[in-house]
Amino acid sequence: MSSAAVAANVAVIGAGISGSVCASLLAARGVAVTLFDSGRGAGGRMAQRREVMEDGTELRFDHGAPYFTVSNSEVARVVSGWEARGIVAEWKATFACFDLATGKFTDFEKEGTAKKYVGVPAMNSICKSLCAEDDLSSFPHLPTILQDIPVRPCFALMVAFSEPLAMVPVHGFSFNNSNSLSWAFCNSSKPGRACVPPNRQSWVFHSTTEYASKVVKNIGPRKPSAEALAKVAEELFSEFQATGLSIPQPIFMKAHRWGAAFPAIAISGDDKCVWDKSTKLAICGDFCTNPSVEGAILSATRGASKILESLSLPSGL
Ligand SMILES: Cc1cc2nc3c(=O)[nH]c(=O)nc-3n(C[C@H](O)[C@H](O)[C@H](O)COP(=O)(O)OP(=O)(O)OC[C@H]3O[C@@H](n4cnc5c(N)ncnc54)[C@H](O)[C@@H]3O)c2cc1C
Repeated sequence: MSSAAVAANVAVIGAGISGSVCASLLAARGVAVTLFDSGRGAGGRMAQRREVMEDGTELRFDHGAPYFTVSNSEVARVVSGWEARGIVAEWKATFACFDLATGKFTDFEKEGTAKKYVGVPAMNSICKSLCAEDDLSSFPHLPTILQDIPVRPCFALMVAFSEPLAMVPVHGFSFNNSNSLSWAFCNSSKPGRACVPPNRQSWVFHSTTEYASKVVKNIGPRKPSAEALAKVAEELFSEFQATGLSIPQPIFMKAHRWGAAFPAIAISGDDKCVWDKSTKLAICGDFCTNPSVEGAILSATRGASKILESLSLPSGL
């Protein structure tokens, strides 16, 4: 560690994937980093929900980002390092599309499509692992610097069944001709997430933006009541039943609202982050690039580079 590095002290606000990556890249160059997050822990939209059933068994759902892919070589270098450390693993899942108009699965994914990565054993394990290398503080009252970025909402429906969905031939599928459902993912088929007892299966469904926007308009921007979430869960599950597939009764069902699931615009150009030289402030996140884990990681690597350059430290990223 160089003496210049010891003198540097950086605060990172937000322990989602972009904040966690930025903090870990700085820490790796010897910078003292303190991470602040207003949430309960690291992860942000790469979250995992833990639910305990009446019989005492536990269910876990990745109810934010279900997985991610990588095409950028800079991000690929970062992610392959995580893979070597066992923080992420490949989800060998097959995907398709279900068309509600024809009642058939179509567009089965061809071999050789992009590798799907998941955090192990949860999507937020990546951030937790990266933050463990830094100092994470829960700090609920930091000012929100960026407020005017338009966002798209999404509801996630978490469902568990006592038996596998035998009529679904894939691990994930999109919906065609559905007013309210966009995707479904078999959560328990990901590495490290098998249900106990093993014949159970857990699924996460995502609503369409249009459905979520309509509900948010009706119930307002505040945290939805348990009744409002129960209604959303019923409506989304009814839509799944409308597929005509023979679906067993769920043993658990709950909806979660993501009021700002996806930024609707990207605020930075080629820089992939916003950098204010005079205050040495780097702003990173998927809203700088594109609404994906990969976009957030890329923005974080660029933000970390700007800070390291300003501290005259080699970025080497
Ligand atoms: C339902 C859903 C499905 C998705 N599907 C996919 C997918 O299939 N593939 C994919 O690649 N991506 C997907 N995404 C998007 C992906 O999750 C995000 O692009 C990525 O996680 C964004 O990371 P981030 O670090 O930029 O932001 P965030 O994860 O939002 O992290 C921001 C952090 O900052 C904290 N924070 C906010 N304000 C403050 C404050 N004032 N003070 C302190 N802390 C603060 C928050 O608590 C949070 O922890 C999905 C997201 C959702 C919600």
